[in-house]
Amino acid sequence: MSHHAKYMDIESKSALNRVRGMGFRWSLNPFRGCVHGCHYCFARRYNAFHDLNASEDFSGLVFVKTNIVDVLRAELSRPSWPRDVVAIGTATDPYQPIEGARRLTRGCIEALAERRTPLQLVTKGTMVQRDVDVLADACRRAGASVSFSITTLDPDLWRDLEPGTPPPWKRLQVMERLVTAGVRAGVLLAPVVPGITDSHESLAAVVEAAAAHGAHYLHPNVLHLQPGTREHFMDYLSSRNPRLHSAYQRLYVEPFAPTTLRRDVEDRVSELMDAHGLKERRHDWWQPAQPAQQLALAGV
Ligand code: SF4
Repeated sequence: MSHHAKYMDIESKSALNRVRGMGFRWSLNPFRGCVHGCHYCFARRYNAFHDLNASEDFSGLVFVKTNIVDVLRAELSRPSWPRDVVAIGTATDPYQPIEGARRLTRGCIEALAERRTPLQLVTKGTMVQRDVDVLADACRRAGASVSFSITTLDPDLWRDLEPGTPPPWKRLQVMERLVTAGVRAGVLLAPVVPGITDSHESLAAVVEAAAAHGAHYLHPNVLHLQPGTREHFMDYLSSRNPRLHSAYQRLYVEPFAPTTLRRDVEDRVSELMDAHGLKERRHDWWQPAQPAQQLALAGV
């Protein structure tokens, strides 16, 4: 949670990270750690890689890569840079509160647009509306999309699952402002948390609201639990709902939920999208190419 957070400035040797097994080849994260503190956060596992505790340290200690804009500019200036899509916010939210003062995400968006490099950004941070000007410019010059991650519109569930985040209905309002300003924006209905946010009512509420707020696209993704995240989330479940905890032990033998469950959610979301006139789906965001394949991330 933000009121406990400590920030540490660091210098980063590289800005662009090579990514394998995802729908994009490069990622960029101006911060490491995230004060939004979502209990299901897949990025907790990156802290496990860095010998930090995946529970408390993840939301309590945020590293700020102070030189990232300069490093990015240098990398984008290389003649060999292929101008591939860069994903921003794969391991931390690029619009968590510290970005308000630091403006690193903003600087990176400007640098990418200048070098005609397309970007995909994902956030729960309503602060993204501050950067509507540079995002609209990036859309025109290079191509850009802003995905708002929404798991639930239930106020109690939201507070419990994502304690440090702005309310989902505010995220949707900001998405609408971006769309109105010419930014391509949509909703990641992710993660869908089995037994908690996968009811028809819950999914329908998100799809309907996304359509009503002008989402260009919507993409659902069922929770996966990688090492690091898994331990934290199972502890969370046993404190809230012991019955669900034992169900999860059977459900999540592997990091990914069973295919039948994932297909069922995807089919139901597709039907809801048809019902609400939301046509466009994206398959290239967050979705590893093969569920069994391990993500290989360098230098997160
Ligand atoms: S906002 Fe994203 S990166 Fe931050 S804790 Fe939540 S899921 Fe993780």
